[in-house]
Amino acid sequence: MPKKVMIPDMLSVEEARERILALVPLLEPEERPLLETLGQVLAQDVVAAFDIPPWDNSAMDGYAVRRQDTLGASQDNPKSLRVTGSVAAGQWPRERVRAGTAIRIMTGAPIPAGADAVVPFEDTDELDRKAQSRSQEEVTILKEPRPGVNVRHVGEDVRHGELVLPKGTVLRPSHIGVLASLGYATVKVVRRPQVSILATGDELLPPGEPLQPGKIYDSNSYSVAALVMRYGGVPRVMGIARDNLESLNRMLDDGLSSDMLITSAGVSKGDYDMVKDVLAERGEIAVWSVRMRPARPLAFGILRGKGGRSVPHLGLPGNPVSAMVAFEELGRPALLKMMGRTALAKPAIEAILEDPIVNEDGRRVYARAVVTRRNGTYYARLTGPQGSNILTSMTRANGLAICPEDVPVMEKGQRVQVEMLDWDEEVVY
Ligand code: AMP
Ligand code: MG
Repeated sequence: MPKKVMIPDMLSVEEARERILALVPLLEPEERPLLETLGQVLAQDVVAAFDIPPWDNSAMDGYAVRRQDTLGASQDNPKSLRVTGSVAAGQWPRERVRAGTAIRIMTGAPIPAGADAVVPFEDTDELDRKAQSRSQEEVTILKEPRPGVNVRHVGEDVRHGELVLPKGTVLRPSHIGVLASLGYATVKVVRRPQVSILATGDELLPPGEPLQPGKIYDSNSYSVAALVMRYGGVPRVMGIARDNLESLNRMLDDGLSSDMLITSAGVSKGDYDMVKDVLAERGEIAVWSVRMRPARPLAFGILRGKGGRSVPHLGLPGNPVSAMVAFEELGRPALLKMMGRTALAKPAIEAILEDPIVNEDGRRVYARAVVTRRNGTYYARLTGPQGSNILTSMTRANGLAICPEDVPVMEKGQRVQVEMLDWDEEVVY
């Protein structure tokens, strides 16, 4: 007998998000190879063990000189210096620059002792000398260098002992580069969540099989898995559970070992909508129905299994657009919180609405929109029919334009908040 459960009321998006966030854990840190940590949250302070650059070095290919030997040098007043050696990047200079001498130096090579400026080849007779096959033992300086010019100083990027990246940093490509420059091959980050994804429905077939009468392909598993990947999780596509308790329970058990379990469909009021029954029986329901369009029917709870295991379970609606929008609004923040992220809101812009949005029943509307920028202003037009089954509309949209729950209609020309799905400027809509 299913036990009697408290079914929460229809919640606002914020209330639902809050309840979900209160129930998902922050995952533990682990040491990972540097290149696998893009987008993850640093779980250690990174303190520099040495200066960067480690020594003064040359910013140009040229000649390391004592500036005092070159004072007054110009095209009309060339100054000759004896070349006593050369130093390339990766070498350590063997001799000092003494009075009246210079050392050939390449970009990135350490500045030899005694030198205090680098005169680039362009300000010497280098090219003429080469063209005329003249002796390389002398160089003529044609321009007086400013003090310290073309010398990159020890520690000017990073100082030994400095806190370079604090714990909590979200690793972008530049951070990965800085970590490499500090010698890190691995780094401690908050672990990525493994997310099991289960489709439910007697009508579903996995892509790759021949289509049959009455059947459709399971697209939710794939769009949701791709979203999980995009936001840094590791998806595990489990397949399809049938609309009966036996099949559903068996497959849900298999998902209990993950950090999060996502199902799609079976949460509305149809005859075969079993997910809500199972969650009511085996778990604690925190969210049942959300005041949003699309994606009103939506479940979230903690699902319990044998051996005391329990897992946060997000029950997405079955309609393909609803599943994606519900994931963006409620699954994404949960995933980010688990990974240690603290900025959970989707980036939004303000745009001028080019089509009206009608709000039929006091829910927050997330309208699929195409945002363009003209003369520095963002404009948002809708993608056309907004049925929650029209998945191709998501491929045309780069944002979700929001009509608040208490606004019955937003007119063309009004300002609208648009949550951006993609920023790809190269896509032509
Ligand atoms: P339900 O919530 O089970 O009533 O499903 C709502 C709608 O979503 C129905 O039209 C289903 O056929 C469709 N649907 C459910 N699951 C999927 C899926 N995995 N991929 C594509 N469409 C689905
Ligand atoms: Mg169904």
